[in-house]
Amino acid sequence: MQYDKNNPFYKIINKEIKTNIVSEGKHYLAFNDITPKAPVHVLIIPKGNYVDYNDFASNASDEEIIDFNRGIAKIVKLMKLEANGFKILSNAGKFTLDGEKGQEVMHMHVHILGKSSEE
Ligand code: AMP
Repeated sequence: MQYDKNNPFYKIINKEIKTNIVSEGKHYLAFNDITPKAPVHVLIIPKGNYVDYNDFASNASDEEIIDFNRGIAKIVKLMKLEANGFKILSNAGKFTLDGEKGQEVMHMHVHILGKSSEE
């Protein structure tokens, strides 16, 4: 699938939409989900234009992939998620289970869901 710049995460990267940034690296940005499904619900996105996880894993550089994954570890630490455990999830395309929605925003993102040990 061709990357379409008309999506909210492209606009967040280009500062056309404001968001609550949790962490930023050379190749990634992380911010709070606008409709949180857990006490902590952070979205991490690559700054490069990738449609979904498969596009990113297939076509991003090693440096981008490492920076992104280290970013997840930084967020887990920053948000104090380790003690209570956490989930990471990436919807790709229209696949669903149990009536859940498939991918809605066509810019690669990973959901990080958990609960801070400080709550
Ligand atoms: P997905 O179904 O995996 O594509 O999830 C897209 C997620 O993006 C949803 O959880 C939305 O709540 C979230 N979302 C959409 N627009 C924004 C935005 N402007 N800022 C933060 N989160 C957003």
